[in-house]
Amino acid sequence: MKNMKKNKYRYKKTSRKRLNRKKIGIILLIITTIVFFMYNNMKQKYQSAETITYQKANKIDKCIVIDAGHGGEEEPGCIFGNVYEKTICLQIAEKLKTKLEKEYEKVVMTRTEDINVYLNERARIANRENADIFVSIHQNALEDDNITSGIETWYNPVKDTNSMMLAKHIQENIINSTNANDLGTKESKGLIVIKNTQMPSCLVETGFLSSTEERSKLIDENYQEKIAEGIYNGIKSYFNYTEENKDTPEGNNV
Ligand SMILES: [Zn+2]
Repeated sequence: MKNMKKNKYRYKKTSRKRLNRKKIGIILLIITTIVFFMYNNMKQKYQSAETITYQKANKIDKCIVIDAGHGGEEEPGCIFGNVYEKTICLQIAEKLKTKLEKEYEKVVMTRTEDINVYLNERARIANRENADIFVSIHQNALEDDNITSGIETWYNPVKDTNSMMLAKHIQENIINSTNANDLGTKESKGLIVIKNTQMPSCLVETGFLSSTEERSKLIDENYQEKIAEGIYNGIKSYFNYTEENKDTPEGNNV
């Protein structure tokens, strides 16, 4: 009996030792797995950080604020043939944003949905962002005239000289891309958004909703793309101009 007890005890001891070895093996396996996953995770994080830096480095260091005119129940803008100015403004602004985001570091919209943003608030957003430029998108309308059509760009003549240049570059390029009637650039001291923004800014009237022909173009996705392309090319051309003229007194006024 004594011997048997001893053997049993010995057996138990060996079994415990085996169990401990098993446990250590499992723990080591868990630790190795955790370390492996942590390493992979860190590697991925490092790689994505690198990608972001790379992408940012490739983009031009500018902040552009796009202002889709009107919005919400309160401010639909002009309405002709069931077409709302606020809707067309936002559709063009979104297309412009997509194009600009590929090239420039920061693109900010004053609204991204059908809501009313007060005019002062739109200017305040651009000032808070310390934007390089501000571009407001609208459509024109005339009562009792369904013929007059064309595109015009407004700027504030007393604020800075670069607002005029921004308006000119955008107007020229938007006419090139759309072939619309060129109504030229125009001066306004009263338009709140271009008056209260502290950077070069302009307001583009992208066509007449009162014109039967132009309205049918303005609701067309492809035509909206052409408008967005024109404004985008104008912005690019304006930044090239300021870069080339940065050492002149006019260029310093960016
Ligand atoms: Zn408007």
